[in-house]
Amino acid sequence: MRVPLIAGNWKMFKTKAEAKAFAEEFRELYKDTDIRAAICAPFTNLDLLVDAFKDTDIMVGAQNVHFADEGAFTGEVSAAMLEEIGVDFCIVGHSERRQYFGETDETCNLKLKKLFQGPITPILCVGESLEERDAGKAEDIVKGQVKADLEGIAADDVKKLVIAYEPIWAIGTGRTATPEQAEEMCAVIRKSVEDLYSEDVADEVIIQYGGSVKPANATEIMNQPEIDGALVGGASLKAEDFMAIINF
Ligand code: PEP
Repeated sequence: MRVPLIAGNWKMFKTKAEAKAFAEEFRELYKDTDIRAAICAPFTNLDLLVDAFKDTDIMVGAQNVHFADEGAFTGEVSAAMLEEIGVDFCIVGHSERRQYFGETDETCNLKLKKLFQGPITPILCVGESLEERDAGKAEDIVKGQVKADLEGIAADDVKKLVIAYEPIWAIGTGRTATPEQAEEMCAVIRKSVEDLYSEDVADEVIIQYGGSVKPANATEIMNQPEIDGALVGGASLKAEDFMAIINF
């Protein structure tokens, strides 16, 4: 049984003071729900959030990790450093990292392998650009990302994976994929996992949709059978909005 997961991606927003204020408000709101919730925050807020949510079910994620154990990689953070803080999730391959920071399928694959050596669950982001969609290539692009990113990863690890389908044209643009488009692509991702592994593995993978999810469109997205959750950017910055999505 796949338990839905709604994760917020704060991107480069919120100082520690702002994160603390959010956490105080959100822990009061997050009650009486079976939907799992996580906040993926800047590195500087992770400690504070793990502490603020320690006696709740709210989980915490990072937005990036390096694939090496340690070394001369200025500005980077290792999986062991995240593990020590106690984060539950780590986003890998967000389109903003692919677009602005040279993330490739190869580095995503190395990061997944590193995270699967420890307890942190990766949230792998895949998705096509508008030009790729308009050219009728959306399915092939996403299938190619799934195949390359999962290369050499064991079936038991893939069962624990979260994959977020995030069409680049819908991120931060206010332009959401229709529920049918999102459902169709999440089904393509599940079928790719089935073809690469097995039906059993594909049945366990949590597949989220991400791209301008907000309280007003959360219900129709979450009601799609292949969609097990959402990765939420802008609308996760306000505790009330994020909770309204969780309460879809
Ligand atoms: C994201 O950052 O992953 C995202 C989906 O952003 P937004 O919800 O703002 O489109």
